[in-house]
Amino acid sequence: MQEMTALREMTDRLLSTASPDVARILDRALAGHELSVEEGTRLFETHGPDLLLVTLVADELRRRAVGDVVTYVVNRNINFTNVCIKRCGFCAFSRGHREEQGYFLPLEEVVRRAREAWELGATEVCIQAGLPPKMDPDLYPTICRAIKAELPDIHIHGFSPEEVVYGALRARCSVEEYLLRLKEAGVGSLPGTSAEILDDEFRRLISPGRITTAQWIEVITTAHRLGIPTTATIMYGHVESNRHRAAHLALIREIQKETGGFTEFVPLSLVHSEAPMYRKRLVPGLRPGATGEEVVKMHAVARIMLYPYVRNIQVSWVKEGPKLAQWCLNAGANDLGGTLINESISTAAGATYGQLVPPRELRRWIRDAGRIPAERTTLYELRTPLTEEDPPHPLDEAAEHPERFGSYFELIRDERFSFRKHYRIVLQQVSTSAPLRDAANGA
Ligand code: SF4
Repeated sequence: MQEMTALREMTDRLLSTASPDVARILDRALAGHELSVEEGTRLFETHGPDLLLVTLVADELRRRAVGDVVTYVVNRNINFTNVCIKRCGFCAFSRGHREEQGYFLPLEEVVRRAREAWELGATEVCIQAGLPPKMDPDLYPTICRAIKAELPDIHIHGFSPEEVVYGALRARCSVEEYLLRLKEAGVGSLPGTSAEILDDEFRRLISPGRITTAQWIEVITTAHRLGIPTTATIMYGHVESNRHRAAHLALIREIQKETGGFTEFVPLSLVHSEAPMYRKRLVPGLRPGATGEEVVKMHAVARIMLYPYVRNIQVSWVKEGPKLAQWCLNAGANDLGGTLINESISTAAGATYGQLVPPRELRRWIRDAGRIPAERTTLYELRTPLTEEDPPHPLDEAAEHPERFGSYFELIRDERFSFRKHYRIVLQQVSTSAPLRDAANGA
């Protein structure tokens, strides 16, 4: 009884020391009101007891939105080439077409990787890559057709808005027509990457030549209209302000209110150490990624501002590492992303948390946080029963020998996959695979 009194005194003191404006904003959020950009900005400015309250409110809204289940997807990344015509300042993954480390996976290798993942219980392949020069616009649909011909039930989560715009440009068709080609070829959903901060002034600074905010919105809203769900992302921890973060969240919320097509929101903090704009000091005032406090705050404010429109807030173990990712589960997040198997993009940028986490380990982090683990599909259907037991998964055992999947650093040195040797051959394959191409064109 005495302890309870002490606890009540402490929580009363916590509430009384909270800044009145922050308390008012959080009160409005709990009452179900939508927060303005100014209010979101204010939440991003919090520290100490104010920040603790922000995380508590985010946790409560998470509980109201999705309960105590924390999900993950068993998937494999297939980044089929790192050769890219663009030079985004944060990207350490891309290579020029003459560079030694440029690679390109032949179609058979893409399909082999998908098949291996499927046989190990994966339900999704995530297909994203650089933008190779002079690309045959049928390349993306051909990859999808080739995978689907062997694995009709695997979910293809593929092609960022940047890639969709590039494909449409190469095909000389509209974004809508190109998305329809991808859908007919088997794409089930799009990653909402290439968003960074949806503000053209900042996009020009950190990634000149990137698609514009209007183009990102066009791809996303068109995809949603065509029945192709997408994720939504933000990349933060570079030169953006708190107001830019809040405005980005408000924009995502507006799109979701209109289309309902976002499956989840994924905050992605900048991995800076190998990013060209950091190594070469290209952008004045560039920060070396987000701090731990900023990461927690981003997930919490995202949950609060996007509630109740976006149900799922994902935390990336690749970017934040298992310890911080686990902590974000107390600050609004309810999803840990995927097993990935071949994470390359953050690894290239200097992330050190590995390329694969098996289901058994993801479930351990979730249970340890006092929550209930569940495997999900890309579209958030639960695949495992909510029990005390952790069912064994074929990937758990396979992950004990990660060398079987090959590493990113091996890949960029592997002569078998050299871009300079293989790209022309693949383009010939694409241009002569008439049935695939005709099918992709809807013939
Ligand atoms: S982020 Fe994508 S488009 Fe930009 S350089 Fe890297 S691979 Fe190319």
